[in-house]
Amino acid sequence: MDEIVAFLAGRLAAWQALMVKPETRAVLALLAALVVVDLWRRGWRMSWSRRAIRGVAATVAIFHLNLLCLPLVWICAALIDEAYAALGVPSIDPAFWSAWPAWALVVVALVSHDFANYWSHRLMHMRWLWPVHAIHHSDPDVNGLSAYRVHALETVVMWGSYTFLLTWMGLPADAIGIGAIFLALHIVYVHVDVDWDHGPFRMWLASPRFHRWHHADVKAAYGKNLAGMFPVFDRLFGTYYEAGRCDAPLGAPGVPANDVVKLMLFPFAEWTRLTREALARGAARSAAVLQRISGRAAAR
Ligand SMILES: [Zn+2]
Ligand SMILES: [Zn+2]
Repeated sequence: MDEIVAFLAGRLAAWQALMVKPETRAVLALLAALVVVDLWRRGWRMSWSRRAIRGVAATVAIFHLNLLCLPLVWICAALIDEAYAALGVPSIDPAFWSAWPAWALVVVALVSHDFANYWSHRLMHMRWLWPVHAIHHSDPDVNGLSAYRVHALETVVMWGSYTFLLTWMGLPADAIGIGAIFLALHIVYVHVDVDWDHGPFRMWLASPRFHRWHHADVKAAYGKNLAGMFPVFDRLFGTYYEAGRCDAPLGAPGVPANDVVKLMLFPFAEWTRLTREALARGAARSAAVLQRISGRAAAR
């Protein structure tokens, strides 16, 4: 009983710690403003579809389930940090940054974070990591809250790329903290259901239209527009996609839309299926080789 009480108290403390972070407050204020703007656009009528309301409920549930998974994420993060330390990669001396103005450090933090984020995101669109990231793509009614529809395991994958930022670059904590506020607000902004493009600046700051195409269930757009903040990375690495206003259906084929239990179990179910398929392919290949060998032996 004491253990259960201690566990619940620990979760409550984690939730409280998250709620008092400046980026959480900024995001909550932005989300509240977005709801008011959306209601205003709808003539003060709550006319969201049932599916969209179910989607919001699923996202909120996933967010809180992830809070319960935090201890597991922390353990994995510590293991990644240890593995990185064991590699002995020389890091940039923090003194190197001391002459830099604060705004430039924030820009460096944001650009390097987005570079790391681009490549981990690209990895997560590949066969074996896709089941982890698919949850983020499951929402057929993408909105500001969809930014929080991620599997706890995705946080672990992202930790690997943030280790690069936090340890190798040796950036001051203040720059990373201010950058985190911009990031937290921007990630909500790109998921908002508006067709905003940034005109001549669209390559330098991701817009809701840019990210909506990333969520489009359209073959030509699969695995495109991977950058979180700076589309110029997509342009540089050949994954940029632009096709005007995005009215395409959103979501991902074969991924449950708003079933929280199925979504949380999705990576494990998919890995089981992929492993079975790989084993079956391996067995078929071995059988073919054996058949060829026995055929040659019989011919001699
Ligand atoms: Zn993605
Ligand atoms: Zn997204």
